[in-house]
Amino acid sequence: MSLPRPIVFGNWKMHGLRRDALALAGSLAERYVRPSGSLGIFPPFTVLAEVARRVAGTRMIVGGQDCHDRPEGPFTGCVSAPMLADAGARAVILGHSERRHGLGERDEWICRKVQAAWGSGLLVVLCIGETEAEWLAGRRFEVLDRQLAGSLPEEVPAGRLVIAYEPVWAIGTGRTPTLEDIRDTHAWLRQRLRARRPAVGDLPLLYGGSVKPENAGDIMAQPDVDGVLVGGASLDPEQFWRIYLAGGGS
Ligand code: PEP
Repeated sequence: MSLPRPIVFGNWKMHGLRRDALALAGSLAERYVRPSGSLGIFPPFTVLAEVARRVAGTRMIVGGQDCHDRPEGPFTGCVSAPMLADAGARAVILGHSERRHGLGERDEWICRKVQAAWGSGLLVVLCIGETEAEWLAGRRFEVLDRQLAGSLPEEVPAGRLVIAYEPVWAIGTGRTPTLEDIRDTHAWLRQRLRARRPAVGDLPLLYGGSVKPENAGDIMAQPDVDGVLVGGASLDPEQFWRIYLAGGGS
């Protein structure tokens, strides 16, 4: 999938009853005409199909927030990659810290989910990031290296992967790393991917964690930051759109 910059993706998490979700999606769809960048929204499963229909005809990407590694079976409460694709999703977020740390998801399982998502033709937004304790202990690169190695399959198909660097301590806290730290981490990620995965080393890298209209422009101006993954601020169409504009989108 070709993803013109800036790439601005919104993770709605567990927010959005049908009426609000459709109003939010509709408000974005009205602004996103003849777009220069890539806008994506990741609503809850319950509204995904309706949201996908609401934005059909625009280039907006609609995705799920997780998927199982199996196509079907006795997995109560889970949703598979073919189900997401069938509902109109073109992408899926995997490895979000709220699942890694909140629900105990491990790299090996995430890796199988990534493979399953690709099997259904979905774009994977793979989230990686260190906790505050790991950050303070100076273990950021070690953790990112382990998560990259553990949650990425050997063969990565072209155009099917975006990596989102999301420091756990920055998610929903209003705190962010300094611009210099974001720059260093993304430069390290780029160099690591080029060395380890030369075929896809130039894949898009997003920053995520307390992105707001006020800091989005500076963050997306950093080298090797191709866009942002936005949580809280993606629930307000005005703020989310201002973030997209701040990254140079139109
Ligand atoms: C997220 O959950 O992916 C995220 C970045 O959240 P927030 O923007 O609210 O920090």
